[in-house]
Amino acid sequence: MSTTNTHGRVDPSAPRIASRRARSASTPGLTYLVEVNLDTGFGSCECPGYAFRGRCRHVDEARQDAGVEAPAPA
Ligand SMILES: [Zn+2]
Repeated sequence: MSTTNTHGRVDPSAPRIASRRARSASTPGLTYLVEVNLDTGFGSCECPGYAFRGRCRHVDEARQDAGVEAPAPA
């Protein structure tokens, strides 16, 4: 396995994604994968709050750290 894409090389047009793991506030030792697209501001998270609401503080914090704005509502 490798981290290259289907072209087998790094694609300069590939989305820039910032990813991190955020600790669960309710379950010690549990972490969630948080990803933020640095170009669009779109974020995702594995936590139940994100699954339920489509947003969560993990994504908000990741955006803030990356210095990107949340995408405008459709
Ligand atoms: Zn979250």
